[in-house]
Amino acid sequence: MAADLPPIWQERIVCSIAAGERFGVPAAVMLAVATQEGGQPGLVRSNANGTYDLGSMQLNTAWLASLARYGVPARAALATGCYSYQLAAWRIRNHILRDHGDYWTRVANYHSHTPAFNAPYRAQIMVAAQRWNAWLAQYRIRPANFAQSRPAPSPAPAAYRMTSGFGLRVHPITHAISGHAGLDIAAAYGTPVNSSADGVVTHAGASGGYGLMVEVASANGIATRYAHLSRISVLPGTQVTRGTTIGNVGSTGFSTGPHLHYEVRFRGVPINPLGLAH
Ligand SMILES: [Zn+2]
Repeated sequence: MAADLPPIWQERIVCSIAAGERFGVPAAVMLAVATQEGGQPGLVRSNANGTYDLGSMQLNTAWLASLARYGVPARAALATGCYSYQLAAWRIRNHILRDHGDYWTRVANYHSHTPAFNAPYRAQIMVAAQRWNAWLAQYRIRPANFAQSRPAPSPAPAAYRMTSGFGLRVHPITHAISGHAGLDIAAAYGTPVNSSADGVVTHAGASGGYGLMVEVASANGIATRYAHLSRISVLPGTQVTRGTTIGNVGSTGFSTGPHLHYEVRFRGVPINPLGLAH
C-alpha cells in the first residue's frame, strides 16, 4: 500500500481514528492525546514515582496492573498496532463519563489528576485537538454528500446503497495496513461516477485489484479514489471540480459485481469517509 507517511504516523492516525470510533471518543481528541504523549511501540519511560509509561499511548504500569484481572498483560501496551490505542480510548472514555470537572480536564486526567500536571496538559491537548479537528474537517465526507445536493451528484447517484464499510487494521508485527480501505457503493453498471472533491486527476487507468481506477488529488494531502470502473472519462492531469463525471460504474479488477469502491486518503493513509462525524 503506497504511503508517504512514516509507519509510526500511519499507525498513530489510523489507530487513533479507529479506536476513537470504537469507544466514542472524538478522533481529534484521540489524535491530540496520541501526539501529546508522543509514544511509540516499545517505548518505556520511567516516572519519578517508580512507575513506567509504556508504548504508543504511554500507558502507566500502575493502571495496566489493574487490567491483569481482565487477562490484559502490561506488555500489550508496548506492542505495535491498534491495541494500545484501544486501551487508551477505553480509558479516556471512562474519564469523560465518570470524572468531575469540564470536558478537557476529564480528558487530561488521562495524564494526571493532579491539578499542577493536569492544567498544562489540558491546555496543550485543547490546542492540538483544535488543529486536528481542522485537519479532519478537510476531508469529512458524509453520506449526504453522495446525494443530489448538486446538479451532478457525487460520487454516486442519490439512490445509493453501501454494501461494505470501512475497516482497517494495523498488523501488530508487520505494521502492514490491511482490511477494507474504502466504502463499497452498489450502483447499476454504467452509472456515472462523479468526483467528490475539487482536484487534479493523478491516476486514470488500470491498477491491479482496483481495476480501472481514477485518483483525484485535492488540497492538503487529500486524495480520493474511484475503483472498479467500466469506463474512464478523464486523463491524468485533468482538473476536476466536485461533481465532475470521471467515469462509470463497473466491475473491473477484484470485484464480484458492479459497484463503486470509494476511498479517501490523507498522504497515502486511507481514512474512513464516514467516520469523521465527531
Ligand atoms: Zn471496496
